[in-house]
Amino acid sequence: MAVRNIVEYPDDVLAEIGKPVTVFDETLSDLCIDMFETMYEAEGVGLAAPQIGLNLRLFVMDCEGIKLIAANPEISATDGEQSSQEGCLSLGKVPAVVVRPQKARLRAQNEKGEWFEREAEGYAARAFMHETDHCDGKLFIDHLPKMRRDMVIKRFKKEKKW
Ligand SMILES: [Zn+2]
Repeated sequence: MAVRNIVEYPDDVLAEIGKPVTVFDETLSDLCIDMFETMYEAEGVGLAAPQIGLNLRLFVMDCEGIKLIAANPEISATDGEQSSQEGCLSLGKVPAVVVRPQKARLRAQNEKGEWFEREAEGYAARAFMHETDHCDGKLFIDHLPKMRRDMVIKRFKKEKKW
């Protein structure tokens, strides 16, 4: 098992729509272990496969007591609205306020291929939506007005000394 390299903006893989997970075997379980290790090492609360360069619909998360593996994730329901700071490991955790639903229900498969549903609110709901977005080739900055989006990218570039 190993900590993987985190792919950063503007790598193409982050903008691709992930391919469905179809094989639920030991390779997938090992990959999820690596993803958890990579996420904890980076002190994140969620990590999606595109963030380690894999064009796959898969994420792991451990946020506010919700620890799970989600293959082929979908947001099946949302409710309310929240407006809080969000950041991404692929953008140097530069924060920006994003408006999202307050509650979200996640529908996904676990590492054995069994479907499950899980509801969350607040920060954990935000993680469901942020990570599912990654599987659709979307980043949190895609939810921002252009000016604020450009500000996040600018700060990230500055941090990276581009
Ligand atoms: Zn992210």
